[in-house]
Amino acid sequence: MAADFLDCGVGSHLVNQFGESNDIGLGLVRFSDRLVDTLSLPPAWRNTVKPALHISAIRTRFVKVPMKFPLGTSAARVTAAPLLLVDLETKEGVIGRSYLFCYRDSGARAIAEILAEANGLIAGMEAAPAKIADFLGRRYALLGVTGVARMALAAIDIALWDAQAVAAEMPLATFLGGTLDPIPAYNSDGLGLMPAKDAAEEAVRLLEPGFHAVKLRLGHADARVDREVAAAVRGAMGSDAALMVDYNQALTVPEAIQRGRALDGLNVYWLEEQIRHGDLQGYAAIAAALDTPVQLGENLDGPEAVFDVVATRAADYLMLDPARIGGVTGWMRGAAIAAARGVPVSSHLFPEISIHLLAATPTAHWLEYTSWADAILEAPLEIVDGRIAPPNRPGLGLQWSESGIARCGLG
Ligand SMILES: [Mg+2]
Repeated sequence: MAADFLDCGVGSHLVNQFGESNDIGLGLVRFSDRLVDTLSLPPAWRNTVKPALHISAIRTRFVKVPMKFPLGTSAARVTAAPLLLVDLETKEGVIGRSYLFCYRDSGARAIAEILAEANGLIAGMEAAPAKIADFLGRRYALLGVTGVARMALAAIDIALWDAQAVAAEMPLATFLGGTLDPIPAYNSDGLGLMPAKDAAEEAVRLLEPGFHAVKLRLGHADARVDREVAAAVRGAMGSDAALMVDYNQALTVPEAIQRGRALDGLNVYWLEEQIRHGDLQGYAAIAAALDTPVQLGENLDGPEAVFDVVATRAADYLMLDPARIGGVTGWMRGAAIAAARGVPVSSHLFPEISIHLLAATPTAHWLEYTSWADAILEAPLEIVDGRIAPPNRPGLGLQWSESGIARCGLG
């Protein structure tokens, strides 16, 4: 496609024999695509400024993907992942993609409704993620940018960033300033609340794809069962594998301290979300009382919430959820706040998206891996020796498997 503008900065202004204008800026000469092709000039001489993208439509599809390892936590039991797939089309033909894990079917339906409405609000606008985030944040301020509204806006933001990186022909990781270096990952499939023997067997199966770390859910009614299950998993995995523990907000502050100390000697890597997620004073008390690091953050609602955690020293580690923190825009702002205090940042869910965000996170720590989206993707993430690298494809690298969607699709 012939570029019809060549505004590349300070310098002399040239008009070539085709009547096209060119600028010489700071010693760099850039020519139109047509001139480069006609004269067989090196590709590096091509004008690199691309036209802006403009939003034309947002399309959603709802799928329920059976989980290889059903997940029973202290909060709920999930056997199929309700995923909402999002395609954001631009007038220029570039498509940005994202997906959401919606927790419940009703969540997927509600988010699809909000996306349909938001589509009407932003159609025709420039696909500029930060500007769209501000615009939609204002439009949904009275409803409240939280819960399903937050997730819907995050899905748009992620798809916009994907579209921009696709247009730039760069992986999102490098588009954001990161590299494609692999990042440590733990297997978060399965290991829900289950008897010790079953948990030990499942932990071994979860290491098989090449992981050296898993996450175990605890929060059994009897504290002794928590200790027994954790000990069985540690015994089955051996001493080298990392063991993360997640209570899914099941405990009180005294219980969290007591149960945390009871796991001393099992070399637990972190203790996650022991109490109600918003009780930062409670977390600060727990973190001060325990030697094992405290992890929280999957429920942080927008990047501002990261500031509250680091200011109160409520946790040793932070994990950000792309859908709750505000998409790519919210993640980068939240990651900057965490980096200012040197707090390690891990990811929550959406490994295909999170891997790019961690790549550009100054204090990147661990990627949470789940295989939930594998069934609807042409090229799932690859695990190599406990690590995962951002795929070397434009944007997020999400390519829907239409046959997989047909098997799981609900329309
Ligand atoms: Mg968790």
